[in-house]
Amino acid sequence: MSEINAPLTCTFHPKRETQLRCNRCDRPICIKCANHTPTGYRCPECIRSQQKIFVTTKWFDFLIAFAITGVISFLGSLLSSFLGFYSILIAMGAGFLVIWAVKKAIKNRRSPLLKFVMSTAALLFSLPPIITWVIIAVPYIREVGFAASGGVYSLIWYLFYSIIITSNVFYQLRK
Ligand SMILES: [Zn+2]
Ligand SMILES: [Zn+2]
Repeated sequence: MSEINAPLTCTFHPKRETQLRCNRCDRPICIKCANHTPTGYRCPECIRSQQKIFVTTKWFDFLIAFAITGVISFLGSLLSSFLGFYSILIAMGAGFLVIWAVKKAIKNRRSPLLKFVMSTAALLFSLPPIITWVIIAVPYIREVGFAASGGVYSLIWYLFYSIIITSNVFYQLRK
């Protein structure tokens, strides 16, 4: 490298010599341009592009994300109501499918709000089998007694499904 001994000058102010470099893009920056962040100095362009990455969603992205998450969560909950133990696997699979489908649909736009919108949709639309269970099973249990009714066996899997898909969606979007 021939320039190793040449004095660095700021990328944005070519006349200013400096020792600092942006710790993201590694370009030299002067002290006026440097933004002190928890991870070191950043140039103005890196700061700007990071902020852009942070919130890039359009308002309708939230509707799309909510709808897709809701449909997948609901279909998964119907499927898992027949499958007992396999609800866990379906919840995992549905969680990944939700993230993949929504990312495609909203073209990878991002917002810290998305994880709340999507995990709320995942939770809400996983509830119908639980609500149905309560409506059908509770009177039945009252009538025939807890032991004869098969107890809460199926409800456990519905709850597992809800909890797993909701936390799976939230966890994948946590960053
Ligand atoms: Zn930079
Ligand atoms: Zn500068």
